[in-house]
Amino acid sequence: MPAARVLIDGPSELVFDYAIPDGLPVVPGCRVRVPLRNKLSQGTVLDLVTSEDLGFALRPLHSLSDPEPLITAKLLEAGRWIANYYGCSIESVIRALLPEAVRTEDNSAKVRKFAILDAPPPPELLAKLDKRAPKQSAILALLSHAPENKMPLADLGDGASASVKSLVKQGLVRLIEEEVRRDPEADGIEEILPDTPLALNDEQAAALEVVLASLHQSTIGNQQSTIDNPQSSIGNPPSPILLHGVTGSGKTEVYLQAARATLDLGKTVLVLVPEISLTPQTVRRFRARFAGIQEQVAVLHSNLSQGERFDEWHRIRKGIARIVIGARSAVFAPLPDLGLILVDEEHENTYKQDQVPRYHGRDVAVLRAHLEGCTIVLGSATPSLESFQNTLDGKYQLVRLLKRADGQSLPLIRILDMRLESKKHKGGMAILSDRLRAALEQRIAKNEQSILFLNRRGFARSLQCPSCGHVCMCPHCAVALTYHREDERLCCHVCGHQAVVPRKCPECRDPAIALQGFGTQKVEEVLAKFLPSAKIARIDADAMRKKNALRDLLNAFQARKIDVLIGTQMIAKGLHFPNVTLVGILNADIGLHVPDFRAGERTFQLLTQVAGRAGRGELEGEVIVQTFTPHSPSIQFARHHDFDGFAEQELEFRRQFAYPPFAHCAVLTSRSTHERRAEFTLQTLFRRLGEDCPKGIIMGEPMPSPLVRSHGQFRFQLMLRSKNARPLTRHVQQVLQKTTLPEDVTVVFDMDAWSFT
Ligand code: ADP
Ligand code: ZN
Repeated sequence: MPAARVLIDGPSELVFDYAIPDGLPVVPGCRVRVPLRNKLSQGTVLDLVTSEDLGFALRPLHSLSDPEPLITAKLLEAGRWIANYYGCSIESVIRALLPEAVRTEDNSAKVRKFAILDAPPPPELLAKLDKRAPKQSAILALLSHAPENKMPLADLGDGASASVKSLVKQGLVRLIEEEVRRDPEADGIEEILPDTPLALNDEQAAALEVVLASLHQSTIGNQQSTIDNPQSSIGNPPSPILLHGVTGSGKTEVYLQAARATLDLGKTVLVLVPEISLTPQTVRRFRARFAGIQEQVAVLHSNLSQGERFDEWHRIRKGIARIVIGARSAVFAPLPDLGLILVDEEHENTYKQDQVPRYHGRDVAVLRAHLEGCTIVLGSATPSLESFQNTLDGKYQLVRLLKRADGQSLPLIRILDMRLESKKHKGGMAILSDRLRAALEQRIAKNEQSILFLNRRGFARSLQCPSCGHVCMCPHCAVALTYHREDERLCCHVCGHQAVVPRKCPECRDPAIALQGFGTQKVEEVLAKFLPSAKIARIDADAMRKKNALRDLLNAFQARKIDVLIGTQMIAKGLHFPNVTLVGILNADIGLHVPDFRAGERTFQLLTQVAGRAGRGELEGEVIVQTFTPHSPSIQFARHHDFDGFAEQELEFRRQFAYPPFAHCAVLTSRSTHERRAEFTLQTLFRRLGEDCPKGIIMGEPMPSPLVRSHGQFRFQLMLRSKNARPLTRHVQQVLQKTTLPEDVTVVFDMDAWSFT
């Protein structure tokens, strides 16, 4: 007897089997109402099972909450994979798959009443009504001029209902109920001017060709998917495409034309961007290109109301919205007939979710493309080393755009040695070098715009000497030692090595060695003094708290109402301002010395991306990079726009130390308001993990997290690495299941961790 295995909504992860009443079309992914104790609860069907003879009858499930399954079979499969791979519960994944707005029964489609005029009324009747019932005749006139002779009842004016009732009685007007969309764009925030495809240059055309070939392959593949021939590429999903295009090379145009081709094949398109609010230009370009079919474009962003989210989600599921643009969680958008997934800025760490389920949006996108048998393009000017190594291994195809689309050359990058600069300033920390000051003055004089960028990712917890640039490093791990104020020592967050804080620089004996750092507000202050006539604005998380503040500011900058824009990571992403000719990077090395093996990669990416904001119009761009470590490879390779050189050297380092992409790296963290208990718990777990630990798992030592106390909780962490992901996750899960944690300690497992603070 077939039964449905149902995961009950709620935090406790109850799974029960229910008998399926005759004729009820229950499949995995359906939402159902089931009896639980003496109430009805909601749940999701995970599986159909054949129930064994239990000696008693299963309770039947009550009914379907939705006539159709809300989770497709493929998404459910992706969900299972996520739960296994990241070591999290299926319930947490289902929550991610089905947004709250869709799951709750409080939400439903919004229905409106419309009045419809089926046929024009005979003129003599109109004349009669005109005298006898002028209100009714006015309504008929309104309807006869409305599109499709149809209007919402509410729009017919106050007190119209009696007249409409009478018209209905006379058989002149019909009332219907229709679902209406709560359109998030209905306010018409901005006007979208339609644009047309550009003639591609040779590199773009070649790139598009590869994408089209993949689209074609997946189309054939899906048609012949019954042919079981693993040898032939037909029937296999096409391999992912990595589109490495320098900043300004016109990747977006390739995306747009690939999207068009996909729609023309009758399929749908999913576009992932790192964050909607930080990539307004990409969103705008998709809107403009598909302006003719605006209602088929859905943009999923975080300030949709519950009702809007509900509507958008169902529009996507029904295949009405055929292009979906969204951040990380949009990877679960229930598009039918998915043909193409585009992941823009695929290297961005915002794709990694920092709450359960801790999935990586790009990696789930690759998995989803594989399950759906569709095409996937990962695009970036600075591909992640994970994706790049996949091209070297032949798992991904590599396509390159090496020239800027407008024929401009890449900006000239100057490296400024801040050690010399601080000598000039007698050991004090200079924020703006003389060179950068002069360059800024020039731009103001020429009425051109500048961007000043401040790297704040690694907030200065490493020790650096202002005169020689020396940074205290771990002798065993090639990462910077982290300064711990609480007990005045330096500590390696990979192996646990400890060192005393030097009184003088170990290299040049300068006693000025210190924690370095300054913020955007300080820069704004200095700049305002030095350029009193310039209009200066600041973009960072503090300044952008207010709703729409970011959009307004970017628009003002676009309109050239601002001369100098100061910002953090937030402005590094795909912005395009043709009048910007100078980009200053104030502290290129902060971030280079954080206890994170990706520090060099992040610095290279940031410098390349930020530099890419300069010279994107007619005017040539200049980039000035201030640094205490001018010879650091990440900075030098970025200066020469040499991704391959950087990748070669960095991959060698990763291989040597068994870091990703050559191993998976996971972090196990314990947290508690009781320091000792957090520490003791992690040590216990560490010991148990060591007992019959599968071969190939490299364990570090438990140690305090770089951010040792956060939100009042003490944090300890353990780094685990393994060539294969599954044995690692499984081993940790098994140990966690066997271990009873103290009540006030939380343990977090983060597979493929991207943050080590
Ligand atoms: P990327 O996303 O690779 O940084 P963009 O897509 O922003 O680059 O393109 C940079 C600029 O070049 C944009 O203004 C775009 O309109 C323009 N562009 C792109 N492709 C072409 C083309 N084939 N011909 C002319 N201009 C182009
Ligand atoms: Zn170490």
